[in-house]
Amino acid sequence: KKKLLEIKDLSIQYITEDGTVRAVDDMNLEIGKGETLGLVGETGAGKTTTALGIMQLVPNPPGKIIKGEIIFEGEDLLKKTATQLRKIRGNKISMIFQDPMTSLNPVMTVGEQIAEVVKLHQKVNAKEAIKRAQEMLDTVGIPAGRHKDYPHQFSGGMRQRVVIAIALACNPTLLIADEPTTALDVTIQAQVLDLMKKLKEEFETSMIMITHDLGVVAEVCDKVAIMYAGNVVEYTSKENLYTVPKHPYTIGLFNSIPNPEEDETRLKPIKGLMPDPTDLPTGCPFHPRCPHATKKCAEVMPKSIEVAPGHFVKCLLFSDGGVE
Ligand code: SF4
Repeated sequence: KKKLLEIKDLSIQYITEDGTVRAVDDMNLEIGKGETLGLVGETGAGKTTTALGIMQLVPNPPGKIIKGEIIFEGEDLLKKTATQLRKIRGNKISMIFQDPMTSLNPVMTVGEQIAEVVKLHQKVNAKEAIKRAQEMLDTVGIPAGRHKDYPHQFSGGMRQRVVIAIALACNPTLLIADEPTTALDVTIQAQVLDLMKKLKEEFETSMIMITHDLGVVAEVCDKVAIMYAGNVVEYTSKENLYTVPKHPYTIGLFNSIPNPEEDETRLKPIKGLMPDPTDLPTGCPFHPRCPHATKKCAEVMPKSIEVAPGHFVKCLLFSDGGVE
């Protein structure tokens, strides 16, 4: 597939009173046109910082992009001016957040809010914009007649649909969704995911789906990057991830999913906690929790190795020489 976004050697840090947080460390990722990439990890793994990095919205200070390139449609976003970036954010890259209320204006009807975006992005008059807004509501499964309602008149799931409609009204080439279904209950989650899948097919929008939930990945993603303590530890197709996971952390994540068909006592959570981001362990950051860790793991930071075509793993078990 034609490349849409390419992240090369990206490192983002936060300088805090407690020390430097290596929020994203030497990241390399690619997204093709129409593809969905899942960015998976626990809270604090660096997923949201990655998204903010792509949007060029990392708060500075304390955040800083230390190095790397973010090539979007052939051009490095890190070399753009503030004005150019604002245009790209409005037109080409949209973001959806976990809590829909943060992106909705409580004193405007949802129809007006969608129409406002439509007017900004498509050369249409006010009347046509409202008509487009109604069509967008219909696309996301909300009766067009409700365009005159205010956000508080909708349920959480419906509000997230409105946010999706607004995001799509700019017809973005890339949609970044940060835990878009986490705040919703399970049935509504499934409906919103179905909607996103449908829209991806209809509009051919590329997506980055940020989640801590491997179930969401199974639903919508083509490729997956598993993050741990700022590092992409495994990066491959969804099929590979589910059939031949390689990194001990990925395997730990799969083992920790409760299997409804098996006895709950068989659930094996990964032992230990995520490390303090200001005080990461030496060597491989996963070594204090890894069942395969050796002395070398505490000393050497593994490099990302392509273990099979398109399957990257950052672990000494696979890199040159392996663990002794
Ligand atoms: Fe485990 Fe060592 Fe691989 Fe890190 S490098 S995941 S500690 S085996």
